[in-house]
Amino acid sequence: MAIFDATTSASARRIGKDRAALVPRPNLFDYREERARFTWADAWTMLDGLPGSRGYNIAHETVDRHAAGRHADKVAIRWIGKTGARRDLTYADLRHETNRFANALSALGVKPGERVFVLLGRLPELYIALLGALKARCVVSPLFSAFGPEPIATRVGIGEGRVLVTTPDLYRRKVEGVRDRMPSLAHVILVGDGETGGSGLHRWPALVDAASPDFEIAATDPEDMALLHFTSGTTGRPKGAIHVHGAIVAHHATGRYALDLHPDDVYWCTADPGWVTGTSYGVLAPLSNGVTSIVVEAEFDAQTWYSTLARERVSVWYTAPTAIRMMMRLGADAARGYDLSALRFAASVGEPLNPEAVVWGLEALGRPFHDNWWQTETGGIMIANFAALDIKPGSMGMPLPGIEAAILRRRESGVEVIGEPLVEGELALKKGWPSMMRGYLHEEERYAKCFVGDWYLTGDLAKRDADGYFWFVGRADDVIKSAGHLIGPFEVESALMEHPAVAEAGVIGKPDPTVGEIVKAFVALKPGHEPSEALRKELLAHARKRLGAAVAPKEIDFRGNLPKTRSGKIMRRLLKARELGLPEGDLSTLESDEK
Ligand code: ATP
Ligand code: MG
Repeated sequence: MAIFDATTSASARRIGKDRAALVPRPNLFDYREERARFTWADAWTMLDGLPGSRGYNIAHETVDRHAAGRHADKVAIRWIGKTGARRDLTYADLRHETNRFANALSALGVKPGERVFVLLGRLPELYIALLGALKARCVVSPLFSAFGPEPIATRVGIGEGRVLVTTPDLYRRKVEGVRDRMPSLAHVILVGDGETGGSGLHRWPALVDAASPDFEIAATDPEDMALLHFTSGTTGRPKGAIHVHGAIVAHHATGRYALDLHPDDVYWCTADPGWVTGTSYGVLAPLSNGVTSIVVEAEFDAQTWYSTLARERVSVWYTAPTAIRMMMRLGADAARGYDLSALRFAASVGEPLNPEAVVWGLEALGRPFHDNWWQTETGGIMIANFAALDIKPGSMGMPLPGIEAAILRRRESGVEVIGEPLVEGELALKKGWPSMMRGYLHEEERYAKCFVGDWYLTGDLAKRDADGYFWFVGRADDVIKSAGHLIGPFEVESALMEHPAVAEAGVIGKPDPTVGEIVKAFVALKPGHEPSEALRKELLAHARKRLGAAVAPKEIDFRGNLPKTRSGKIMRRLLKARELGLPEGDLSTLESDEK
């Protein structure tokens, strides 16, 4: 299969779609028309607002308005536990449970604006606490439950957490020992059984279940801070991005447009709410759109995922390249025997999605993956492959209605928009969409540096083709400068991924006295393939053939696994630091390590 080369994009392969087969009609049916028509001012009319024109609160838009309307008895969250236990929460149930949580916070004397951290596995209480705290107008910061004590203490410290919701087990193992580093933490609400002791500890049943199920959300300014999300830490120390209640209009609109959510959908977002995808698109966008969301407590396992897709009749699926690549490792045969006929739309985010993976989706699942691009800072999807548009495998797609994206070049005085197609530059977004971060907590200077004039600079490099599709090149920090060329690691990794033996690839620039940097690749192999000198040579030759000698890697090392963040992104900076014997930097989000 030929690698997709953006320079030939006009003639490149596209995955065209039979529109008649797309049932129901995509929400974004005519991209150009919708884009021309769309304004954010109009988009607010898709929401209800708090009764009596008292502003906008995320929990009202996601829960209460549906509970008061025709979706009241519809399942909002279908929870599937690790041991097969199940719990359905209708929109009406969710209203009552979140009301109880909001009342519990008030009973503890917790005030609006104060920070509530949630450190839980994907349990129903995670969703209840998150939405209940928003009702109480507290600021929520979800933490990934696999974090160790250090990242927990740092984040709760930066965010001045007043409340922590966790389990007795997590508290004992991860919080107790660092509690003295969180002086602001007054209350810990414990979910589930288990012994533990300490000050300010409360048990969920006694505090929350016993609270009143009636609660009225007070007036909420859409500019009130609602969520504090820490970035993935792929390029350095994680930053705490501030998001406001008004961001919900963007979650709602992008859920409709980019994920094509329809009221009858059964939707599954595989991301953990400890990361922004798991909150924006695992909680807020689906609920705001009134769909049924599947929540799977267990961690990734390819066979379990296939059976979940089939058994739950998932119609819209949002996942990430790492998981897709793990499924690809097992081959398309693993999908056979599962009835995936309900699946209408599959999307991916978080890392560049190699063209191979898009096509594999079509072969194995009967649906191509629709890549989309965004960041913790943007709060919601900004660039996407849409249901009604052809996919160009390897491209992130086109900007959402209401989003202006451009490729910029920095100048001494400000920036310049690059008009010509296929020229690399910094990916930038015109300021002013509703889910844009309002700051990095306590890091004003770092925040200010993200903006030049009207533009928010994303820190990613990309190019735009003549049809308006955007192509990811790499993170500005990861781009390799070799003999006068700028080389994006994604292009090289995608070429390696085309080889049948390669499961994953991570590419770095290694300093070289002659050419500046040489391209070095780290490769993990699929089952059934062993590292050997012959295979190394074969891969080098394969890459040279695909990419040309200037861009192809000069060195390839084999690894059992590549180092990744807990949200599943390859940490190229760590591959590089280790290669060069440099300090490894902030490892608070490191998940799997290379072996
Ligand atoms: P940090 O900012 O702490 O280094 P991070 O950038 O990985 O971490 P996130 O906000 O979770 O934190 O990730 C956003 C980044 O992920 C984007 O800036 C981009 O580099 C990458 N990304 C997300 N989606 C895509 C995509 N579809 N294609 C390519 N890259 C993507
Ligand atoms: Mg980032």
